[in-house]
Amino acid sequence: MIPPRSAVDIDLGAITSNLAAAKGLVSGADVMAVVKCDAYGHGATAVAQALDSAGVACFGVAFLEEALPLRAVAPETPILVFTEPAPGEEIATIEAGLTPTIASPDGVARLAAAARSTPLDVHLKIDTGLHRLGVAPEHAVEMALRAESTGLRVTGVWTHFATADDPGDPQLGVQRELFAATVERLRAAGVEPRHVHAANSSAALGDTRTHFTMVRLGAVLYGLRPGSSVPGLTGFRPAMSWRSSVVATQRVGEGERVGYGLRYRLETDSTLAVVPVGFGDGLPRLAGNRGRVIVHGSRRPIAGAVGMSHVIVDCGDTTVRVGDEVILLGRDGAGTDTEVTAEEIAQWSGTSVYEAVTRIAPGLSRRYS
Ligand code: PLP
Repeated sequence: MIPPRSAVDIDLGAITSNLAAAKGLVSGADVMAVVKCDAYGHGATAVAQALDSAGVACFGVAFLEEALPLRAVAPETPILVFTEPAPGEEIATIEAGLTPTIASPDGVARLAAAARSTPLDVHLKIDTGLHRLGVAPEHAVEMALRAESTGLRVTGVWTHFATADDPGDPQLGVQRELFAATVERLRAAGVEPRHVHAANSSAALGDTRTHFTMVRLGAVLYGLRPGSSVPGLTGFRPAMSWRSSVVATQRVGEGERVGYGLRYRLETDSTLAVVPVGFGDGLPRLAGNRGRVIVHGSRRPIAGAVGMSHVIVDCGDTTVRVGDEVILLGRDGAGTDTEVTAEEIAQWSGTSVYEAVTRIAPGLSRRYS
């Protein structure tokens, strides 16, 4: 077998330990593990299997096709699909025992027709301000009653916050209150949802009033700090690291410029190491000249532009040989100066931790421990 040029290592123990830490912070609320987008690039089936054994109330994914492979590894655990089934997806949703979201009269009608009076649990999504998907609060009671009258069981009600990662923004409180009031009106109308959920990681960590009966956690389970304004995570650790190795070295003299566009200038004579990872693998182009990788336990600059398949690393006077390990994400040893975090990659490239991890190419091999 040809050894991978770079590989992504996933520490499943970190994910289950992060789950335990999260459970300790959500005051008894159930935890839904969000494993959409291939568990944020960590590999949904392996992650779901580990989390299922550790105990989660539910899994959450965006689409039907993400839910289907999870059924095989988590046969009993509820799986909520965050979007209404598209026309033609109703039967597959029901046959796989998934819990669909309802958010429109058309969706209710199609699901009811496909369920043919067999009880089907659904969660009603309410749009309290993000204005992406969901029924307007003033139509929530009407839609829930319509669903129940056609044989669907509204066992869950949920919403999603627009500004959870900005603790200073009052919008979260506005949405939280509107949601709570809508749930009250549903109860007054005789709808008794067992699961009431609104919080993602930022909201769950930042405001206990968003917990309701269940929280939907993604980022913190993977050990990712969801935003730069969100307080640092204590008791959580990143689950993903990304490693490659040097494929070529050369000694280049002071004053030479390096890489496409020659945008990096050597201050002194230096050993340059070539690493077979580029933006085609998901290392952001914008990390060129700003980013760091770890070689022999030290953070070293990415010299010049990130290419499609390679980067050049300025290793200074360190002796570096072909085959030596290069850490693109993760840590080597205990110190913070020997770590590259997803937060940093996001910062160098003007994006979020979510994008930093999900853009790492799905084709790269994932190794689990
Ligand atoms: N809820 C919904 C509807 C989501 O789409 C997501 C993730 O995108 C989450 C919860 C989890 O968010 P986080 O990763 O910030 O915990």
